[in-house]
Parts: sequence; structure tokens; C-alpha cells
Amino acid sequence: MNKNIFDGPYYQTIAGKLATSAASFDVFNPATGAVLAQAPAASAEQLEEAIAAAKTAFKSWSQLSYEERQTYLNAYADALQEHRDELARLLTLEQGKPLKTMSEPEVDQSISWIRQIAARRLPVEIVEETDAHVVELHHTPLGVIGAITPWNFPVLLALWKVAPALITGNTMVIKPSPFTPLSTLRFGQIAQSVLPPGVLSVVAGGNELGPQMTAHADIAKISFTGSTETGKHVIRSAAGTMKRLTLELGGNDAAIVLPDADWQAAIPQLFWGAIGNSGQWCVGIKRLYIHRSFHQEFVAAFVDYAKLQKMGDGLDPAVTVGPVQNKMQFDKVRTFLDDIKANGQKVVLGGEIDDSRPGYFIPVTVVDNPPEDAKIVQEEQFAPIVPIIVYDDVEDVIARANNSPYGLGGSVWGRDTKAAVAVANRLETGMVWVNEIHTQGVDIPFGGHKQSGLGTEHGNEGRQLFTNPKTILIHK
Ligand code: NAD
Repeated sequence: MNKNIFDGPYYQTIAGKLATSAASFDVFNPATGAVLAQAPAASAEQLEEAIAAAKTAFKSWSQLSYEERQTYLNAYADALQEHRDELARLLTLEQGKPLKTMSEPEVDQSISWIRQIAARRLPVEIVEETDAHVVELHHTPLGVIGAITPWNFPVLLALWKVAPALITGNTMVIKPSPFTPLSTLRFGQIAQSVLPPGVLSVVAGGNELGPQMTAHADIAKISFTGSTETGKHVIRSAAGTMKRLTLELGGNDAAIVLPDADWQAAIPQLFWGAIGNSGQWCVGIKRLYIHRSFHQEFVAAFVDYAKLQKMGDGLDPAVTVGPVQNKMQFDKVRTFLDDIKANGQKVVLGGEIDDSRPGYFIPVTVVDNPPEDAKIVQEEQFAPIVPIIVYDDVEDVIARANNSPYGLGGSVWGRDTKAAVAVANRLETGMVWVNEIHTQGVDIPFGGHKQSGLGTEHGNEGRQLFTNPKTILIHK
């Protein structure tokens, strides 16, 4: 494959072939605000074709052995590896994240993920054996999976869906976010050189393709990552065909730094936990609760660490904080800064957007001890703005952390690990890290409680959700 495919033009992949579309749309570079490329905008008919091809491909793909599918997935990982540098660069260009510290690790982790998933299987389980019969539990593929992805980690979040869906025998159509379609179109294109036609298609276009997928009779499951609001639309739309759903949605994660924490040592992790990817992280620290006994020193040290960072174009190797990804998000973030200002909250770093600067840059902003009912505490900011909130009493901070419609992740920091784990046990979220943050792994189940999601990704639990349990009882 020609290496310069990453410079465009970009194509849909439908039934194993590259396809242009009659319409196209602009994709912007968030570091400059300028148009980066044109992406093809799929028609409803093109999406139909991709779904029909996935349905056809399912007949033979689902009949392959695990070993055969494993070979295909490893070949796909090899093909992606060949294009690792170009894919990472394109990711920075369309998403804005720093190349060295974010895009390259995202691509590397994605490739490694495919290989690791390829090495796992869901074997037939004997769930009961008596003199009378043997009972087997099989995990059979569902059919065509529709993957719908957001713009914050476009490569990783999509390949997190591709690998388990394909290894378990399903085929897939991916619809990337209209804000970041390019890297997904490219890895779709690369897939065509190694996978049978129709097994993996990428169809880019507007938001209207989403409802077409979620209502489609030939899609057996929607694996969706995005906002809670859109997730609710997906549930309603999928009801008509009783689709399987996995929804990874929004969050408002609390980090609780306990009175005995080695908070000085934790500052870099807490900073990146909140500000990494310019705060556009579903499990980003969005509320940082610290104990009053070290309030002033903590805020000063956090701000000092923040001042070491350079904001700018992610292609610049010195840059550690990129722009936010799109104009819509940029405008939304402004409403948080306006609210902070209007309510006289104490901003100890950042707070002002430089409107003369091109691109969607929000300076790292630290808000010192805003009230619990502040917008920046209650809502998901998805931006490099962190409220540092003071608490006195551990019982009280647990209650405040849990006082949210979200329940995605959270973290607890303390020297007494047992006490920290006891706090972790009481957080109403799907994932809690203790003295570390944001570790993910193919065998580590991940999913939101409350309005942060439905179902699980990763682990056996996550892989099983790409299958139907099927019980066979055999009389002896
Ligand atoms: P979004 O909900 O606006 O869009 C997500 C995807 O849904 C896009 O591909 C979009 O085109 C599509 N879509 C839009 N309307 C649709 C509809 N009616 N039916 C079906 N699909 C539709 O989310 P976003 O702004 O792209 O992403 C940011 C959000 O995603 C944040 O809330 C963040 O917390 C969340 N997120 C969650 C996780 C997680 O794993 N829990 C990971 C990353 C991001």
C-alpha cells in the first residue's frame, strides 16, 4: 500500500472496496482552525451497502475457527504497525493531541490491543455434568455490530470495539465522529488489504447516519461511545429491533486525596489525570477533592506543575497540552469560564481565552475551591479546567463524590491502602483506581454505573457482550 495515503483523498470502505461519496464535509485542524481535509459524506444508500456487505460477510467469518480469525487480526495489527507513524501524525492533525505523548501511545496501544485480544478466546464451558446429561455454554457471535465513536480517542476507542467484535466472529460497520473521521477512514482502508470484504467497513458522514444504524434491522448490536444525551437516543432507537447495546457514556469523575496521602508525589498523576488530552477524557478527573490540611500547599504545587507545560500545536515536540478538538466544544467550554467569572470563583491559573490566537486553545485553568453546586463541579467540562475542592470530612466527601447522575470512574489517593480501598468500595462508579490512574487493560472490565453507561467493555465480561450465550443440554 502506498504510504502517502495518509495525505488524502479519503475514502469510505464498503464491501471491501474504497468508495467516494457524492457529498463531502470539512475536517478541521483544531490547532489552527483551518480546514485540514475533506471527508466523504456517506449517503443513506452507502450505509445500507456497508451493512448488507457485513451481513453477507458474517456468514463465512462467523464459521472460521478462532485460530483463523486470530491470524487475520494479527495480520491487521502488522498492517497497522507499518503505518504507525502516519496514523499517529494524522491523529494529531485532526484531533489536536500531542504527537509524542498522546497520539503515538494511542496508536501503539491500539495495535497491541488487537494482538492481545487475538490471543484470547471464549471457550465452550461445561456448566454442569451429571450422570444424566452434560450442559455446555457456547458464546455465539451476534451478527453485524454497529460501532459509533466519539472524537476524543478516535483510534483507540474504535479499535477497542473492532478487536473483540471480530475475534468472537462478528462483522462490523464503524461510523466515526464527524469531527475526527480521517484516522478511522484510514485504518478502515488498511483493513481491506488483510481482511475479507465486508468484515470491517468504515462509513463517515453526519450524525444522521447514527440513527440509521441504531434502528437498522440487520444490525444486531450497537457498541457506542459518546455522550450520555446521545446514549439515551440510542436506547430509544434500538428498542424497535431489541438490539444488544453497550454504551460507554459521559462521566464526572472525582479524585479523592485522603488526609494521609503522599500528595506531593501524586501531583503529576493528578495533573495528567485531569488535564491529559486537554481534559477530553471520559474518565478524566473532573472534580479534584483535597483535604483542608494541605489545601494551600497543594494548590500552589499543582499550579507550579501546570506552569511547566507548554500549550500549542501537538506536532511541536515541546507541546504537552493541545487544543480542544472542535469549535462546538470550544464554545461550550467558554460557557464554563463565563460561569466561573460571573460567580466570582477564584481562578488561580488560566481562565482567559486568547481570542486573537487561531485554533481552539483553552489555557490550563485551575479553580480554587468553588462551591459544590458550581457548574464546573456539577457538569462534565471535558476541557483542561480543573476545580480543586476542599473537604474536611471523609464521609462528607464520599457523599459529595456520589452525588452525581454519572458513575463512570474515580480515584482515591492515600498511604493507608486499606483505608483508601474502603473509600473506593463506596464510590458508585464502574471503575476506581487507588494510588494510580487511567490504567486500562484487555482483561480489566470497564463500564459505567448510573447514567455513565450500559454494559462493559474489556475482560471476559466485555468480550461476552459481543456474543449470545447459548446453552446446549446433551442427554447421556
Ligand atoms: P456524542 O454523543 O456527541 O457523539 C458520539 C457519536 O455519536 C458520534 O459519532 C456522533 O456522530 C454519533 N451520534 C450523534 N447523534 C446520534 C444519534 N442520534 N444516534 C446515534 N449516534 C449519534 O459524543 P462526543 O461529543 O463525540 O464525545 C464526547 C462524550 O463522549 C463525552 O460525554 C465523553 O464523556 C464521552 N465518552 C465516553 C467514553 C467512555 O468510555 N465512557 C469514552 C470517550 C468519550
